[in-house]
Amino acid sequence: MNLVFQPHPVATLPIAGSDLRFPVRRIFCVGRNYADHAREMGALEQAEGREPPFFFSKPGDAVVGGDDEVSVIYPPQTANLHHEVEMVVALGAGGANVAVDAANSLIFGYAVGLDLTRRDMQAKAKEKGHPWDMSKGFDQSAVSGAICPVAVCGYPASGRVSLMVNGQLRQDGDLSAMMWKVPEIIANLSTLVRLEAGDLIYTGTPAGVGPLVRGDVLAAAVEGVASLRARIV
Ligand code: MN
Repeated sequence: MNLVFQPHPVATLPIAGSDLRFPVRRIFCVGRNYADHAREMGALEQAEGREPPFFFSKPGDAVVGGDDEVSVIYPPQTANLHHEVEMVVALGAGGANVAVDAANSLIFGYAVGLDLTRRDMQAKAKEKGHPWDMSKGFDQSAVSGAICPVAVCGYPASGRVSLMVNGQLRQDGDLSAMMWKVPEIIANLSTLVRLEAGDLIYTGTPAGVGPLVRGDVLAAAVEGVASLRARIV
């Protein structure tokens, strides 16, 4: 097959303790999966009951990550770039209509990431009923650290998820507070699209989201599982 130009190389993430890299296919994100964050966003139905999970996407090449400090360019067209620290699930196998009790078998490993958000643009989009793509899926909007394989980390269902900005604690939650647990997220998402190896799922953020400025130094962690260092430039 002759192509009119060479395809762009696939985006990849490092794997902790390995020279191999993880090739990223699609990036899915769960909205409002922690009650305290749903509450701070004014989404009270989500905070009080358990509404069905909802999803949005980022392009696969919006991912930026690494073992060392990751440089993230402050995006254009916003004056209110927000951090959302989240556990990231990396799939090593695919499937459609996956049962909840089979969902863990799709997981390759876990990382900690940032679902960066143009909050000012997102607020306008919500007001007008417009899509979120440009407030959520811009270049370098999906930050991630190295992936810890399940052989090392197991299947963490509890544990601290936190974000420090310039040495100050901004977000501090626990995986056990997710309204939709990881196997339920995978099962639900797999009824909407066929999942494949290489897919990343950002599993939602706890409370404490807030603005970033150029020069901010970020340190995120899912305790005992994964960490991430980043700088906004
Ligand atoms: Mn998020």
